[in-house]
Amino acid sequence: MMAPQKRSAEEAESLLVGVRCIVFDIEGTTTPISFVKDTLYPYVRNNIEDYLNKNFENADLQKAIAALRDQAAKEKEEKVEGVVEIPSGDASKEDVVKAVCDNVRWQMDGDRKTTELKALQGMIWNDAYESTEIKGELFEDVGPMLKMLAEEGFQLYVYSSGSIESQKLLFTYSSQGDLSDVFAGYFDTTTGSKNESASYKKIATEIGNEPKDILFLTDIPQEAEAAVSAGLRSALVIRPGNAELTDEHLQNFACIERFDELYGDEDDEDDIKRFAGDNGEAEDDEDEEEEGDEEDDDGEEDDGEDA
Ligand SMILES: [Mg+2]
Repeated sequence: MMAPQKRSAEEAESLLVGVRCIVFDIEGTTTPISFVKDTLYPYVRNNIEDYLNKNFENADLQKAIAALRDQAAKEKEEKVEGVVEIPSGDASKEDVVKAVCDNVRWQMDGDRKTTELKALQGMIWNDAYESTEIKGELFEDVGPMLKMLAEEGFQLYVYSSGSIESQKLLFTYSSQGDLSDVFAGYFDTTTGSKNESASYKKIATEIGNEPKDILFLTDIPQEAEAAVSAGLRSALVIRPGNAELTDEHLQNFACIERFDELYGDEDDEDDIKRFAGDNGEAEDDEDEEEEGDEEDDDGEEDDGEDA
């Protein structure tokens, strides 16, 4: 069950009071959802065959293929519809490569997020990032804010359905430079589903902090509810391209459109200037702000949602 987190006028000052750790979702939170759909996924589809052929002897790749093979065999037994089986290791390379391609494309068609699939996708993305064919896309406030929060002593973590390997790649090879230093750790679905409160309890234990000292930021209300059920705090992040939130979600959770809103309304402008290295000349009058979509009116919006 969800414990509503209504923000009183006082609480709206900052979401960070008493917080020691911040756990970030990626898709829809730090990164446009379109990055995954329009860049990462198509890259796998278009390059998987090449990748498998070039790296077939690699032990890690063989491990990933074995995991997919076991997964498919298990699902075949469970009579999962359309499952593509992968022949055993003594089959020809050509047959195995074809089956793995078919299996992966089938899983991706179904928008599956299995750990086995993610592991192989992560390996393919690794190549793409290292060869700079892909850069991790971040909303413009993300890099500066992560650095600032880390400098201020917050312990920062990632919890995403993407494999830990692919999480690290995104932040190491990001469009805003190498941000891997800001994070104290990474969690993926090997910890558990993001919709299960048990996962967040586990994360709190692994981080070594009280759940109440941890703030989880995500675009998905179900995930926020699961985190709150585990005793964490949570806020919903509203980003361009995200699914729209219902009025109920807007009322029950603190909502932010940019990470600088974590600091609350009063300090907002100063913080923006501080982390942007901006002397504020162009920002003095927020009412005149014409840059549009990303500029927040968080004070009014948050206060308006207070019940
Ligand atoms: Mg998300």
